[in-house]
Amino acid sequence: MAGLPAYVAGRKSPDAIVLASNESPYGLLPAVEAVINDLTAGVSRYPDMTAARLVEAIAEHHGVTPEQVAVGAGSVEVVGQIAAAVVDAGDEVIYGWRAFEAYPIITTVVGGTSVPVPLRDHVHDLDAMADAITDRTRLVLVCNPNNPTGTAVGYDELSRFIARVPSEVLVVIDEAYHHYTDPAAVPDALRDFADVDNVIVTRTFSKAFALAGLRVGYCVGPSDVVSAARKTQVPFSVSGLGQACAIAALGEEKEVRRRAALTVTERDRVSRELVGLGFDVPPSQANFVWLPIGAAAASFGEHCAAGGVLVRPFAGDGVRVTVGLPEENDRFLELAASAAENRG
Ligand code: PMP
Repeated sequence: MAGLPAYVAGRKSPDAIVLASNESPYGLLPAVEAVINDLTAGVSRYPDMTAARLVEAIAEHHGVTPEQVAVGAGSVEVVGQIAAAVVDAGDEVIYGWRAFEAYPIITTVVGGTSVPVPLRDHVHDLDAMADAITDRTRLVLVCNPNNPTGTAVGYDELSRFIARVPSEVLVVIDEAYHHYTDPAAVPDALRDFADVDNVIVTRTFSKAFALAGLRVGYCVGPSDVVSAARKTQVPFSVSGLGQACAIAALGEEKEVRRRAALTVTERDRVSRELVGLGFDVPPSQANFVWLPIGAAAASFGEHCAAGGVLVRPFAGDGVRVTVGLPEENDRFLELAASAAENRG
């Protein structure tokens, strides 16, 4: 435990613009708000432990069977459930680095050995990840698009990679940010790799569905892995309110896509303006941008916080900035401009 890095959550402050946790800036979907108003009294009871209605709704949404779907308290718990199901003590877990900071934590907690493979030009180096597979490897985590760099791998690279992974090694494709991707550039692993026995895809209600606080995520994959991931879930971890709101949110696909498109337009504007200010900005397919400014990351974060905008610095590496509402992004861009001036 002494060597286990602690998860660093984005800062919160009621007085600041919060662009630190990759949440949706648009608030609750209308149908979700109605469900919350109706169901608050129900929280005095335990929820349906199997989340049967939600599992069915997700299965129907993706055209799969309920046996191929498991849920958890956010996709972070779902990735942990999958790891707990397949990783034995000493087994190796491969992931790109830097990627989602929960991966090393999840790996250590289940007794696995982390094998972080450096990104190349801020993108997953899938050839190097395939080369890193040994006879101890049980799990490979591919975050697509990647948090915090925003970069994505394309269909050809991903399918070449999957073809190289031995069938006894499970590949998790973490698609938390799927709604923000360009379908022409980024695969939909749920559709494209649905028939591959050693691929499982995780998704979340926390981002485009604007339900981060209610903690609902899921995976879709082969039924044997899914049934194991159900067994490793903490009982009742998905609240009844979470289940009901997730079902309501799934029914608002049109509004979800409209909001995601607004975020994509803003993301591309913010990226362009940052490049204009002299920042190197890897092309993002997510609802955030990455500034790989190395040693300047912490002071850039402080500069923004002092100006009323909370971003997410990764000390010594870079800064991740969530795309907010246009006026929030404008305020951030002003601060980025003054930081660029200070840097000369
Ligand atoms: N995967 C990735 C890549 C993420 O960035 C996040 C959220 N930071 C998650 C999973 C987990 O999200 P949640 O547990 O809220 O579903």
